[in-house]
Amino acid sequence: MTLAIESLDKLLTPQGVVPQQGAVWLVGAGPGDVELLTVKALRLLHCAEVVVYDRLVSEAVMAEVPESALCIDVGKQPGQHGLKQAQINQLLIDLACSGRDVIRLKGGDPFIFGRGGEEMVSLQQAGIRCEVVPGITAAVGCAAASGIPLTHRDCAQSLRLITGHGRSGEPQLDAAAVAAGNQTLVFYMGLSWSASISAQLQAQGRDAETPVAIIENGTRPDQRVLITTLAGLAQTVAQEKPVSPSLLLVGEVVRYYRADLQVGALARVAAC
Ligand code: SAH
Repeated sequence: MTLAIESLDKLLTPQGVVPQQGAVWLVGAGPGDVELLTVKALRLLHCAEVVVYDRLVSEAVMAEVPESALCIDVGKQPGQHGLKQAQINQLLIDLACSGRDVIRLKGGDPFIFGRGGEEMVSLQQAGIRCEVVPGITAAVGCAAASGIPLTHRDCAQSLRLITGHGRSGEPQLDAAAVAAGNQTLVFYMGLSWSASISAQLQAQGRDAETPVAIIENGTRPDQRVLITTLAGLAQTVAQEKPVSPSLLLVGEVVRYYRADLQVGALARVAAC
């Protein structure tokens, strides 16, 4: 059952009895493919009472939530505002205080650009029991689903996960951190700032021909992979208009991408 935010007051109004406090599980929903949920996440979802979920959680994952559970959508569309973070924090506290066990379901991993840390601290400060269940983060899911290794002994000795969206919009990349060529850079939330990211990386000496993959809807049935270069990134985005969620993967490892290999096809035929 999906619950509108406006109906929450009624749900949270005490009915005369002091309820026993519930707990909150911050659960990673992975990048979309339901088979990438952890066993623990799936077990928790199957017995969920209340699920507070984000825009990034896929329909396939939500389909695992029992009909009887209350589902509260607190998601933000890019450029729009859902509930503010402080309101989400308060909602989790109020639900737990009203005696409910809550699954806080977040795309990918709760602790990677998911503001899971803020929610955990707020719950701890309110004295509410909280457990974190990791999920497969978008970088790892998208890499696997496109056949692009994130590290490789020949060309990528390290991996950096970077937010492509600064506090006030345009990201200010750490020049020293992004300059070295033998690393893979993965930008989350970077689509709308791709021109700036490309210009900053080239200004730091990254070769204009460095390959870039834009992975849209990674691990989902409508996944799309666009291959370009740092120099061509802005134009590819303008022409192909990839939509959210999309990840930018920058580095020599992108050369391992082979459109003809259809990564994921084996998983589809291995239905056992
Ligand atoms: N906690 C999440 C990240 C949240 S930030 C995680 O660990 O994956 C949101 C950004 O993640 C999106 O803007 C996009 O850049 C990326 N993202 C999440 N899911 C994705 C997917 N299925 N395909 C491509 N990018 C994705």
